[in-house]
Amino acid sequence: MEKIQKCPHYKKCGACQIHNLDYDSQLEFKMKKVVRLLGRFHYVEKIIGMQDPYHYRNKVQAAFGRDRQNRIISGVYQSSTHRIVPVDECLIEDKKADEIIVTIRKLLKSFKLKTFDENKMTGFLRHVLVKRGFLSGEIMVVLVTGSEEFKSKRSFLNALLERHPDITTIVQNINNKRTSLVLGEKSVTLYGDGVIKEQLCGYTFTISPKAFYQINPIQTEVLYNKAMEFADIKKSDIVIDAYCGTGTIGIIASKYAGHVYGVELNRDAVADAKKNAELNGIGNVDFIRADAGRYMVDISDEGLKADVVIMDPPRAGSDVRFLKSLVKLSPKKVVYISCNPETLARDLMFLSKNKYKIRKIQPVDMFPHTEHVECVVLLTKSETKT
Ligand code: SAH
Repeated sequence: MEKIQKCPHYKKCGACQIHNLDYDSQLEFKMKKVVRLLGRFHYVEKIIGMQDPYHYRNKVQAAFGRDRQNRIISGVYQSSTHRIVPVDECLIEDKKADEIIVTIRKLLKSFKLKTFDENKMTGFLRHVLVKRGFLSGEIMVVLVTGSEEFKSKRSFLNALLERHPDITTIVQNINNKRTSLVLGEKSVTLYGDGVIKEQLCGYTFTISPKAFYQINPIQTEVLYNKAMEFADIKKSDIVIDAYCGTGTIGIIASKYAGHVYGVELNRDAVADAKKNAELNGIGNVDFIRADAGRYMVDISDEGLKADVVIMDPPRAGSDVRFLKSLVKLSPKKVVYISCNPETLARDLMFLSKNKYKIRKIQPVDMFPHTEHVECVVLLTKSETKT
């Protein structure tokens, strides 16, 4: 049994909704949730938890501001408010990232740099974002500032690098808008090459400041390996990686497949996916920028076939247009990866009424201490024997 660690910020912060439960009870809580929502479709396999469910987040974000005594603080927004809860150490965040954020806070004071004031829209530092490659060891620091002017830039960067020589790149992102979004449009690389690399399932991926990348690298391997096991791709198979982001799943699947087509709406993500394929020297994968549903209608109109569709939509789930085009395309197998069992239940209902049978449901705990749970589901065409 793991040693229970208790977080002093738990109540104020609100990000870890079930932190009051020990880890076994958390897994039980998630299992019950999945069984309640998906149990009517099929038997639910036992949830795969983490050996060490702490400090798993490879991406850490801190808001900067001032407290009532006008002291500089950094931490997280209290859930449902815009108040900053000062946090120096978080039990789910990467330790190194937290240390870097504390160093930056101390440096601000000695360099007399201001924090950004959202009411007056003046000042300098708004947020710090740190991304760390757990396997590669590379670290990116993004300083999100309200203005482009950066006083004492060189000496500030030198001081930061001197204290944390393992930082591999530093980026300044300028966000001068009234917005709850962390990152603004413009980024300037101040040190290193502006991206980090990370290994996943034996491949290398580039992570840029804005790109989506799974936040729990240990469980991502578990999840993707499960997805590959369920997909059981053959060398002659045409595979579609729908909602492919920066191409991680498609690239991992390419090893087993004849050809993989990754489809994604976000232009930057598609560009990253193409670069990632090149970086790994993969020739049998193409990434297309399109609405995933529209793309599948188009290829089935052209008379093309797909054997396996792997889909990983956002929290809102898929939509009827996509699901209808999936049924029209009619692949032998569908592997549905979902971070929201509610929308997954809705989409499985549609597919179970339209030619597909649910064969396996595997929950994976990607976000210990929070209420969230990820699932991977295997569906096959009703007439297919397994
Ligand atoms: N499979 C990836 C990304 C999953 S996140 C990974 O594991 O890293 C979901 C992705 O779906 C996001 O990148 C989002 O931009 C994309 N998306 C959302 N709606 C879409 C649509 N209608 N068609 C294609 N992609 C879409």
